[in-house]
Amino acid sequence: MVLAQLKPVPKNQVLLVVDDREENRVAMEALLGDGDWEVRCVDSGQAALRCLLEEDVGLVLLDVQMPEMDGFEVARLMRGNPRTRYTPIIFISAIAHTHDSVLHGYANGAVDFLLKPFDPQVLRYKINVLLEHERNRHELQMLSQQLDSARAFNASVLENAAEGILVVDDKGCIGFANPAMARMLGTTVEALRGTALLGYLASPDMPLRWSESEFYHHWRQGETYRLHDAALRTGGGELLPVALSCSPLPQLQQSMVVIVLDMSTVRDLHAQLESQAITDALTGLLNRRGFHQALESVLARIERSSNSERNNRRMALLYVDLDGFKRINDSLGHAAGDMVLRRVADQLRACMRPYDTLARMGGDEFTALLDSLGHPEDAARVAEKLIETLSGRYEVDGIEVTMGASVGIACFPECGQTVDGLLCAADMAMYEAKRAGRQQYRFFSPEMNGRARSRLMLEESLRSAIEHDDFVLVYQPQIYLDSGRLRGFEALLRWQHRVAGTVAPSVFIPLLEETRLINRLGDWIFQHGIGQCRDWQPVFGNGLVMSLNVSPVQFSMPKLVDDLRRVLDEKGLAPAQLEVEVTESALMQDLDVTREQLRQLRDLGVRIAIDDFGTGYSSLAYLRHFELDTLKIDRLFISNMLESPRDAAVVSTIIDLGRHLGLEVIAEGVETLEQRDWLIAHDCNIMQGYLVAPGLPAKVAAVFPQQLDWSALVAGERGAVR
Ligand code: C2E
Ligand code: CA
Ligand code: CA
Repeated sequence: MVLAQLKPVPKNQVLLVVDDREENRVAMEALLGDGDWEVRCVDSGQAALRCLLEEDVGLVLLDVQMPEMDGFEVARLMRGNPRTRYTPIIFISAIAHTHDSVLHGYANGAVDFLLKPFDPQVLRYKINVLLEHERNRHELQMLSQQLDSARAFNASVLENAAEGILVVDDKGCIGFANPAMARMLGTTVEALRGTALLGYLASPDMPLRWSESEFYHHWRQGETYRLHDAALRTGGGELLPVALSCSPLPQLQQSMVVIVLDMSTVRDLHAQLESQAITDALTGLLNRRGFHQALESVLARIERSSNSERNNRRMALLYVDLDGFKRINDSLGHAAGDMVLRRVADQLRACMRPYDTLARMGGDEFTALLDSLGHPEDAARVAEKLIETLSGRYEVDGIEVTMGASVGIACFPECGQTVDGLLCAADMAMYEAKRAGRQQYRFFSPEMNGRARSRLMLEESLRSAIEHDDFVLVYQPQIYLDSGRLRGFEALLRWQHRVAGTVAPSVFIPLLEETRLINRLGDWIFQHGIGQCRDWQPVFGNGLVMSLNVSPVQFSMPKLVDDLRRVLDEKGLAPAQLEVEVTESALMQDLDVTREQLRQLRDLGVRIAIDDFGTGYSSLAYLRHFELDTLKIDRLFISNMLESPRDAAVVSTIIDLGRHLGLEVIAEGVETLEQRDWLIAHDCNIMQGYLVAPGLPAKVAAVFPQQLDWSALVAGERGAVR
């Protein structure tokens, strides 16, 4: 801080005596010598002016009559100079003056006029008073100069501060604003003065009255109030994000100082970082984290809303999984995969309303949050539209690819009320849709919830069952209808549960497939089934057929044929003795894969049967393209055929079809003699079912007759061997 050019007044002030006569100067020096001052004597006006420039003179005793420059002239010049303008002057004259000349002296700046002879006491007294005066004046001048420069300093601080600074009075009116503040608000300092601070704050929950505001309350408590995320409405009508701090000024001033920080750059940076963290770089949709956040905030909003609003609020979460994407990615490469994902994102956007939330959860999985639905069925409509839009053939890099989508739907609040609950429900529903054959949507139902729990437990015990070898195969005989001769056995899997006893495969096979545990168990089944057939060669010869079930998951594994070949080699069984049963739906998963797999199985020399024939896609047309050996008529048709002409027609059609294509036809689930007779009458080749025997433990199956005596069966009514 640069302050005061004025020097403080020295303790001993200087008295300047100006007189052209030596004797007068000596007399004056003698007279004034012992005062609280220093005396300087000069003999002319010029010398006086020089001294005044060099020294801080407190008082001038000035002779009027002097050659060249008289006292009046000296006084006039002194008054013209700022340095000496206020220096007191006492004129001293030996001769009597006219009244006019005395007045002339005063007019030229004298503060007193003494005539000789004068009383030295009086002179000393006058000098003392005038010097005291002069000292006071000097000090005052110095103070005011200090004040000026302090004020200038403060003003420059306020002027140049980058933050906005306001002084607001106890009524909330702006009394002072610095230029930075005016710039922020796009206005002038003058225009701000006298306006209400609250008028600039753009927050919906800001009270209208100053006395109800937090500013006022804090001020009353003498506390600083900080507001980190405020927004100011600028003159241009925009919103400026700011941080405020308001501190009370000393009581007397009845006001507070408000510092305003422009947060727009910081906010922008934050927003940018934030948005990078929650968006999927590839598609520009939200990513998993972003979707979580969005869903969370919607749920929190609902939580805060009124009861009636909460009860009427319907939302749905859609989990979309692409069908066939993996194939594109694997065969055409990641760049092509990325292109497809971007296109899918665009298509999804097109299907949604503006206020729906879309995200890519990773890989080829997308989610959508449909807010404010009228009915849950509306979600189904959206799902249908999605599936329709996404499914079809595309051209990627000049190659045609087929794509589809499966959609799981979880409704709020029925299927879950938390982010994780809803996501999990939608995911499970999506899996259900996939299982139902893809290109479909499924709702998550509360029963699915319970099923999920028991599934989890079942999965756990299945794992340990595999480890503990708790599985066995049972063997169900297959009989030639015309001769009663044993054709072979179908190996059926049983789980000997330590607590629950024997568990049927329909309970655990789907789960084994879902969890891919079937692949581990599959090898075990091959080992035992093929090994058993080899072991039975001495009993049943090498014409016996062993049928093994192959699940859709197993069938889609490229290594299936290699695995079979290896086990056949190991066990030394001829491939012709092995038949693999594949369901119709497994064959229809992917026709190219199916054709290739069947060709390899055929090359290996094993037999191929279509299981549960008639229940699937009834894509009879495809049959011509596949090289097969056997059709197995689903037992549902057999059990109904005697009552239902339609089912009877299906069975006889399949039998005819088999004959025309040169395939063996096995009727499954034959339980009565009437069914057997009907089948014989319709030229069916082979039967399997409880009429003859259920799945038998290996030891029992080993003594099964190679030639069945039908008459014994008739006599015993049913179940030749039980
Ligand atoms: P599937 O291949 O259609 O097997 C025939 C099912 O019908 C067997 O049930 C069998 O016990 C039952 N069955 C046979 N005759 C009759 C009858 O006269 N009446 C009635 N009501 N049922 C009869 P299971 O053993 O419970 O097997 C169910 C399904 O589990 C099988 O259907 C098959 O798809 C699958 N499965 C069984 N064993 C295996 C296996 O080792 N591997 C694989 N991948 N799947 C298996
Ligand atoms: Ca089967
Ligand atoms: Ca079957």
